[in-house]
Amino acid sequence: MIIALKHDAPGEEIRAFTAFLEKQGVRVHLSEGASQTVLGLVGDTSGIDEEGLMARRLVEKVIRVQEPYKRANRMFHPDDTRIDIGAAGGETRHIGAGYLGIIAGPCSVETREQIAGVAKAVKEAGAGFLRGGAFKPRTSPYSFQGLGCGGLDLLLEAKKETGLPVVTELMAIHQLELFDGVDIIQVGARNMQNFTLLKELGRCKKPVLLKRGLASTITELLMAAEYIMAGGNSRIILCERGIRTFDSYTRNTLDLSAVPALKRHTHLPVIVDPSHATGIAWMVPAMAKAAVAAGADGLIVEVHNNPEAALCDGEQSITPASFAALMGALKKYAEFEGKKLS
Ligand code: PEP
Ligand code: MN
Repeated sequence: MIIALKHDAPGEEIRAFTAFLEKQGVRVHLSEGASQTVLGLVGDTSGIDEEGLMARRLVEKVIRVQEPYKRANRMFHPDDTRIDIGAAGGETRHIGAGYLGIIAGPCSVETREQIAGVAKAVKEAGAGFLRGGAFKPRTSPYSFQGLGCGGLDLLLEAKKETGLPVVTELMAIHQLELFDGVDIIQVGARNMQNFTLLKELGRCKKPVLLKRGLASTITELLMAAEYIMAGGNSRIILCERGIRTFDSYTRNTLDLSAVPALKRHTHLPVIVDPSHATGIAWMVPAMAKAAVAAGADGLIVEVHNNPEAALCDGEQSITPASFAALMGALKKYAEFEGKKLS
């Protein structure tokens, strides 16, 4: 971190400021130029509050040379992180570090027949994980809100039937006590910066699927992951699920460049959700393949046995037949990328 001081900053104040910075565990190099004095901070500056520094009278500008996230940073952990998840029969599924995790299932759990049928179909097609929302974050309070606890029970029944590990969204921390049988906890886009929730998930032992906020930057997503990691849970899977842009042709705009960008800056696995990113079922296979080609470590895809009758996100849900065809293509994409399907 570099701090440029105002040209008229008095020596006494500079000395006091330097002592204050050193107390925070960094070394301070002072460079006095003809027109400006600059302080160079060496060491771990992740705990230093940039805005707090800017508020000081003698500070002109603060430039961060290093990213503000530490535990999520690839610099501190050069190897890719692999998330291991236990499946039925003592098997282990993986996401990241050469493993392409495929999560598929309906947006919401609706009925026993629906979730059981979709679970069976996606398993047969080769998915490694089953998704299904029980607590749904809907824009309108009058829309279907999910089956809640009953939905979780049906999802866990489908897990038992198929042996597929399950992914489902947690909206509030008090729901955690219901999540015992859940394998991956999803934090939805709208909760990406719910810092209270993130801190609690830091204390939890389960892997977290952290979705990028609708208007969040890549750094903000990494800082959200850092919140969970700072609490002691480093089993995080990041998910690019489209962001808000000016174009309304698609539901969101899939920021595929986020995949190589994230993978450059973090060791955490990065997956893509082509369903929420596009909102259009016929676009999902193309974007799913593009995501794998861009280096994604996995996909989360909405699949429904009867999209037209879906209670949530039917227009972006693909049918089991279309998912099976996509899996056929993904096998080749994974092979080309040198990754194993999981
Ligand atoms: C979902 O996965 O169904 C969902 C609501 O996703 P997002 O939080 O990305 O909108
Ligand atoms: Mn959905």
